[in-house]
Amino acid sequence: MANHRFPPVTFAGAGPGSASHLTMGVYQALQTADVVIHDRLVGVEVLDLIPAKVRRIDVGKTGFGPSTAQAVINATLVEQAQSGGRVVRLKGGDCGIFGRLDEEIEALEAAGLAYTILPGLTAASVAAAAIGQSLTRRGRNASLRIVTGHDMAGFADHDWRGIAVSGEVTAIYMGKKSARFVQGRLMMHGAAPDTPATIVENVSRPDQRVVSATLDTLAQAVRLIDGPAVILYGLAPRHAAPALSQLKEAQA
Ligand code: SAH
Repeated sequence: MANHRFPPVTFAGAGPGSASHLTMGVYQALQTADVVIHDRLVGVEVLDLIPAKVRRIDVGKTGFGPSTAQAVINATLVEQAQSGGRVVRLKGGDCGIFGRLDEEIEALEAAGLAYTILPGLTAASVAAAAIGQSLTRRGRNASLRIVTGHDMAGFADHDWRGIAVSGEVTAIYMGKKSARFVQGRLMMHGAAPDTPATIVENVSRPDQRVVSATLDTLAQAVRLIDGPAVILYGLAPRHAAPALSQLKEAQA
């Protein structure tokens, strides 16, 4: 049973960066919050919309880098909720995609605390828009995969045969370190080496960058990337020429 002495915690997705990708619901939740617990992936533009009187707690994590342990985040969340204030747990993109949302929900449930979820725009949606493409297309792909390059056990295994089928589209999150592994698996399962793979770095941020690659050049191309990036496997920028020249510039 949820404890109604405390307001429900709001889990919110901040979108990939730009304030223009924030929903009105999340915006309003930020305006009325007492405390916002946020990740490193939340864009500066969104953080700037949090009123100065609202307390901010940064529990940012970077892949393989310094991180706040999930247990500490869970404990912070419960502690803040039990202090009686309105708590917003703000995560980059959509809070329900690779956001460890369930672990935090379970921590609240164990403490008898209620919650609501306000989803956000996920990086893949905004990345596809940035390259002028849709994620599904009649006659090309009737489904979309969203996969992670690595999970807690290391490089993640997937239905490589399905992903390798011509025309299929897969958005690969956290795929930088695993690019060579993914490349090898897909080649092994018969994917064409010239299948487009577009890397979109810092989606919807001032330093957004599009790197056009193919399955063949993917591992080499990710070396150019240092910010958060999503790989749109199976999609090329609609205007391939300018994006390719950008790759050349980046390599120069
Ligand atoms: N909940 C997030 C995903 C978090 S997992 C979402 O829905 O977008 C972290 C991964 O998301 C990163 O490694 C990267 O692959 C992707 N990502 C998140 N924000 C991004 C951004 N602004 N630009 C590019 N990729 C991003």
